[in-house]
Amino acid sequence: MRIAMCASEVVPFAKTGGLADVAGALPLALEAEGQDVIIVMPKYKMIQDSKFNIQRLKNDICCTTIGKKIKVYFIENDNYFNRDGLYGNKSGDHKDNLDRFSFYCKRTLNLLKEIGFRPDIIHVHDWQSCLIPVYLKSLYAKDPFYKDTKTVLTIHNIGYQGLFLKDEYPKLGLDWNYFTMEGLEFFDRINILKGGMMFSDVINTVSPTYAKEIQTKEFGFGLEGVLNKRRKDVFGILNGLDYSIWSPKTDKYIAKKFTPSSLSGKLKCKEGLETICKLPKKKDVPLIGIVSRLAAQKGFDILADSIDTICKMGLQLVILGTGDQKYHDIMEEMVEKYPKVISLSLKFDDVLAHKIYAGSDIFLMPSKYEPCGLGQLISLKYGTIPLVFKTGGLADTVNKNNGFVFDEYSSDDLVATVKKAVTTFKSKAKWNALVKRAMKYDFSWDEQSKGYLKLYAKAKAK
Ligand code: ADP
Repeated sequence: MRIAMCASEVVPFAKTGGLADVAGALPLALEAEGQDVIIVMPKYKMIQDSKFNIQRLKNDICCTTIGKKIKVYFIENDNYFNRDGLYGNKSGDHKDNLDRFSFYCKRTLNLLKEIGFRPDIIHVHDWQSCLIPVYLKSLYAKDPFYKDTKTVLTIHNIGYQGLFLKDEYPKLGLDWNYFTMEGLEFFDRINILKGGMMFSDVINTVSPTYAKEIQTKEFGFGLEGVLNKRRKDVFGILNGLDYSIWSPKTDKYIAKKFTPSSLSGKLKCKEGLETICKLPKKKDVPLIGIVSRLAAQKGFDILADSIDTICKMGLQLVILGTGDQKYHDIMEEMVEKYPKVISLSLKFDDVLAHKIYAGSDIFLMPSKYEPCGLGQLISLKYGTIPLVFKTGGLADTVNKNNGFVFDEYSSDDLVATVKKAVTTFKSKAKWNALVKRAMKYDFSWDEQSKGYLKLYAKAKAK
């Protein structure tokens, strides 16, 4: 099959979250299954040509190769992409995001024609590439080039929908006929994700549980009705992990490599992390790691309410992430109050993230909702025991055999579960057995990519 993967962020070129991990790893797994895959993404300012051997192809298009022969096409536009921040900066979302990503979608469809890549499937991800299925079924509806092309939409987080004022609609180049309940209209505003959901041939999200959850009022962010209408075409496929990037056996960023049968390196990683984070070396006290956006979705609301209590529980806490100013402030206050207990790095830092996954004992991920979650999958591989709220992909991947799970979303339940983990940590035999079990879980792409192939076949059959 010929598959064009269209995503607004792709590892190793640009990343703000799990979408990039998926969009970078899935093509490699599909190629290993014998599929013909290309990737199309915007060329952001931070993507360095020399680092990735990126060559110019056209005036506004550059290209490189990943895997064996997966071509990655970068769309350039100085006005739109040659700036800091993929989607926004400190003052919020970029004001011209509709212009930026509608341009990306249109240019992608023209580009595929120019390079003669006639896809069986265009696989789009999240709202930023959702105008592709919309344009295919409107502006390109009669284009013979795309006659047999089907679209698959993966929703990585239904909380981000690409909402814009109706005034901006003319910029899309679409007839007003499409600004209806059956199209992009959503409470008199433009909803790009909704457009993608209405016009894609097949829809999936990144875990079976989240696929069910988003069809309910509680998790659907207003789009549950749309999904319900399309429920026969809605599926859930758990994300995989690229173990060539995320494995303590081969990780080049960690203090010492380790495996389930030889765990001494993990202690070295913990010491290394404590040193970097300026925390005292305490091998008998559990070190809890967090690598996350600092947002209520990620559980920072209940964490903010309980952090003071948690800091007094005989543990260490290393937090890496950026997000809402409110949570930056609360966490900074805690660092002032408990400098020997908490370390806070308010930034995006891939290398430090690797060190945290490897050097922590527990990985805290109390997300209120979580489409799939990669943090818990990565931490399992590094023998860092996940502590999660039972929701979405966390519910599908963490259980009492490999981690700690709480099922009432409250600070009290969070604190009680941290207490349980701290107590278990004290029993060395129990803890080591848990670590070894956790490390043996396999969430590689090998299996999950087969799920996508079935999904593509379903789309093709439409
Ligand atoms: P999200 O909802 O943010 O996409 P996921 O758990 O699916 O959450 O994926 C998050 C990905 O981004 C993981 O690979 C995680 O390690 C990474 N990540 C998140 N925040 C940071 C950060 N501040 N620095 C480095 N990596 C980060």
